Amino acid sequence: MITKPKGTYDIYGDTAKYYNYINDTFKTVCEYYNYEYIRTPIFEESELFHRTVGQTSDIVSKETYDFKDRGNRCLTLRPEGTAGVVRSFIENKMYGDVNQPKKFYYSGTMYRYERPQAGRYRELSQIGVEVLGCASPLIDAEVISLAYRLLEEMGIDNITVKINTLGNNFSRENYRSALVHYLEPHIHELCEDCKKRFTTNPLRILDCKVDKDSDIIKNIPSILDYLDQESKTRFDQVLEYLTYLDVDYEVDSNLVRGLDYYNHTVFELVADVDQLGNASTLCGGGRYNGLVANLGGQDTPGIGFACGIDRLIMVLQELNKDKDITSSLDVYVMAISEEEKLTAIRLVQDLRWCEIKTEMDTLNRGLKAQFKQADRLKARLLVLLNSKDLQKGLITVKDNLTKEETKVDEDEILDYIISNL
Ligand code: ATP
Ligand code: MG
Repeated sequence: MITKPKGTYDIYGDTAKYYNYINDTFKTVCEYYNYEYIRTPIFEESELFHRTVGQTSDIVSKETYDFKDRGNRCLTLRPEGTAGVVRSFIENKMYGDVNQPKKFYYSGTMYRYERPQAGRYRELSQIGVEVLGCASPLIDAEVISLAYRLLEEMGIDNITVKINTLGNNFSRENYRSALVHYLEPHIHELCEDCKKRFTTNPLRILDCKVDKDSDIIKNIPSILDYLDQESKTRFDQVLEYLTYLDVDYEVDSNLVRGLDYYNHTVFELVADVDQLGNASTLCGGGRYNGLVANLGGQDTPGIGFACGIDRLIMVLQELNKDKDITSSLDVYVMAISEEEKLTAIRLVQDLRWCEIKTEMDTLNRGLKAQFKQADRLKARLLVLLNSKDLQKGLITVKDNLTKEETKVDEDEILDYIISNL
């Protein structure tokens, strides 16, 4: 038997219901916030991720799926969504659009060579947004509140927004030096990855999952003490807007996020759910003002977040574990003889086109088995077609709630069903 590749999983059954529900809710919320849908390729030139996510990031240094195609091109399965959207923004000259800022939402699979565990896969699904062309802290608040309200809309309300600022480049550099100075005497106590990070990207040490509870990390200097006035004022404004929008946040000065391209606001939405353990972060995002220019575009500010669908499914499953989430059927049409089946297929089609969820038997079941099947599908109305009645132009409808049976004129069956649902 051929089995699925390590770190992937099939989405079907209840999981598929949650998957669709999450995507549908996300789309609805994004449309209200006036974001437009964007879809970019699942693979891109490897160079794109090296330049954006960064050579020293965990993702590029050890998690990407790189391959050469038959034309010897170096390609990478996308590990995240921002790089592709930014490339598309530049390549399609969207900075020239009259409508600014550009506000996008996307949904799709990403690929990371990680050690598979609960909430951590090699093929993962993310929903996310990106806003390009706006530096106002108003947009930081909009993007964060969109993520927060989205989770709330799905019934996930034990959410904390962890937020921090990395400041502008000047503040970030100041902090970097302070950090190096503080960490230097402790390098040998850090994990192997952090020893490397110390020279390549010391800020990333704050993000370490191995050392996070050590005293060295706990007593690390706070970036908030190294912000210049501009960065500080900007951060205070974001927080003020969030307060005004009733978003519960917690400033976490150790939050830096895994990617190289962030500056100013960075944030994560964390769920208080036991099952998630090391994977309790549902959403992560931040501002990336230098990224567009770094990829050769005009200097354009940007901000976005990505939310892991796989983890959202786990949270929803846990929240709804005592609820029956199987959806019910509106109508089950019963037919036995060939003549009855002919009437049935036509009626079923008409009902479906009236947006009524309808099913009929296609496995040659007998009458008793059809009743059972209708029960399993939780049909609200049963339509019983029998040849004798059909000759008189009549169809029997049974209401499964009231248990009432009514004979309805064949010509009026659609209207009858519509008004009785
Ligand atoms: P983590 O710190 O958990 O590794 P990250 O910083 O790598 O997360 P991002 O790149 O910001 O995560 O991705 C945003 C969201 O995507 C995460 O908050 C998480 O919900 C989800 N996610 C990230 N990696 C995986 C994965 N391997 N499997 C499933 N979901 C993931
Ligand atoms: Mg990661």
